[in-house]
Amino acid sequence: MEGKTQLNVYETVKKQFNKAADIIHLDPEIRKILAMTMNEIVFNFPVKMDNGKIEMFTGYRVQHNNVLGPFKGGLRFHPGVDINEVRALATWMTWKSAIVNIPFGGAKGGIQFDPANYSKSEIERITRRFTFALGTNIGPEYDIPAPDVNTNSQIMAWMLDTYASTMPAHERQACTHVVTGKPVEAGGSIGRDKATGQGVVFTILQWAEEANFDMKKATYMVQGFGNVGSWASRLLKPYGATLIAVEDKTGAIISEHGIDPDALTEHVQNTGGVKGFADSEEVDHDTMLAIDVDIFIPAALENQITAKTAPTLNVKLIAEGANGPTDTDGDRILQERGIDLLPDILCNAGGVIVSYFEWLQNKRSEFWDLAEVDGKLHKKIIQGYELVREAVREFHADWRTAAYIVALRRLETVYKDRGIFP
Ligand code: GLU
Repeated sequence: MEGKTQLNVYETVKKQFNKAADIIHLDPEIRKILAMTMNEIVFNFPVKMDNGKIEMFTGYRVQHNNVLGPFKGGLRFHPGVDINEVRALATWMTWKSAIVNIPFGGAKGGIQFDPANYSKSEIERITRRFTFALGTNIGPEYDIPAPDVNTNSQIMAWMLDTYASTMPAHERQACTHVVTGKPVEAGGSIGRDKATGQGVVFTILQWAEEANFDMKKATYMVQGFGNVGSWASRLLKPYGATLIAVEDKTGAIISEHGIDPDALTEHVQNTGGVKGFADSEEVDHDTMLAIDVDIFIPAALENQITAKTAPTLNVKLIAEGANGPTDTDGDRILQERGIDLLPDILCNAGGVIVSYFEWLQNKRSEFWDLAEVDGKLHKKIIQGYELVREAVREFHADWRTAAYIVALRRLETVYKDRGIFP
């Protein structure tokens, strides 16, 4: 796996945006607004380590746009986090919410560090201190963080607790929806943990149905076996598809007979990575990417499908569980080679869709069951899928550009309705 973000992903976002904006002749005034982020906050903050020494950390929150609703987007813990990555991720969130028509804008946050090198109590203090530094730059009706790479429901519970603890006493109970992706007992939604992987699977099944492709005979490979990669694999299992290869930061494994996603999930929980999984062979990164499978699910970091790797892929479909796994050269090569693509801003929108359901349940003091959550998620993501498919046909566009077109048209309409203050 390519470890660090080699290219500036924010440049990729700008190219993607300009391409779609040109095609639909986006109003030049609205284009100026959407081409920039609204707010960018950088925090340097001290945290006491277990050994009593102080370490300084750098954290970010970028808010791209909130014309459709409160800023919304995850929080990432990774050494590769920097301002351009967070700008890119925040901007993609705006498009994502617009495509699936949920009343949120786009934001993203991150802290530049590798949590693997810190103890649980250090990670708790880093999280709490960052949340305290964010202060009222987040809020249940203003900007709502959620999990992303290397963050989970425990991190969200600490964020909620810290945020609530700094509020006046009479407001503390009314702010549960300041973060989503919480543990179910602490106000989370059933089905949020698997939601991104579930959305990836719903979009793949929709593609298969429309392409007359038999999922029982499908083979696939996954890059990244965190929340998205492992859930997508486990949820594909009942449809009979065979997982052939998986790569994560510990290495790549392959098995022609198939890898059991449930057993691999357990192995990763016990050992911290896919390496050493029984009944599989280790291969190198280039070999893994070149294997002949039907579906590739990149579910790790950005810039994995590039001018270097796109020509080597032997797949029919790429379903982007990660944000930004394909750069613009990669996109062009996939199109030339006739490889289908479900773009990130549609394919991985299941996470933010169920975040919206969690937020609604908190506001209404309701608890939905899994059937209700999954049913509503399916409806929302497939509505987005159908709009993108229509735009592909109307504009003879590739799927990513069509997804942008759906988002930009919605945002343009709202700006035209509301006008610009004053
Ligand atoms: N981090 C996820 C994403 O990139 C989820 C964001 C959210 O639920 O707000 O879509």
